[in-house]
Amino acid sequence: MRVLLVEDDISLGEGIRTALRRAAYSVDWLHDGASALNAIRDDIERSEIDLVVLDLGLPRMDGIEVVRAARRLGASVPILVLSARERAADRTLGLDVGADDYLGKPFDTNELIARVRALLRRSQGRANPTLSCGALELDPANLALNLSDYVARGDW
Ligand code: CA
Repeated sequence: MRVLLVEDDISLGEGIRTALRRAAYSVDWLHDGASALNAIRDDIERSEIDLVVLDLGLPRMDGIEVVRAARRLGASVPILVLSARERAADRTLGLDVGADDYLGKPFDTNELIARVRALLRRSQGRANPTLSCGALELDPANLALNLSDYVARGDW
C-alpha cells in the first residue's frame, strides 16, 4: 500500500513517515500543496497512491484548496487531513470539500495508523479488518499471521 504524505514540518513528517513505514506502507513525502496536487492529478490514471495524508497549513497551496481541486479533477483517492486547526469550522470545511477523515494535531501516531488502516479498508470495500487467503489470515493491525487453521489441518 502506498501513502502520499504531504507535510511541511520536517520533524513531524519524519515521525509520520517512520510510523507509516513501520506499519508496512510505502511512503512518498511532499512538502507543499502545489506539488501534492500535481502528484494526485498525475495519479488519477495510474491509481498507484492508495491514500493521502495531508496537512492543511502548507506552502504554495493550502491543504483545503488541494482537497477541493483534487476532487474537482475527479480524484477519488481517500484523503486524511491533519491540522493544528482544531476549530470546528476548519474540520467541517475539510470534510465538506472532500476529505474522508480529519485528525487534529497533536495526535498519537497509533491513532493515525489506525485511521489510515480504517480508511484503506473502507476504500477497498472491506468491513472485516483481517485479510484472508484460503486458511491464512493476516491482521494488519499487528501484522500477525494466523496459521492456526492451517496448522490444525496439517497442510504445512
Ligand atoms: Ca504545516
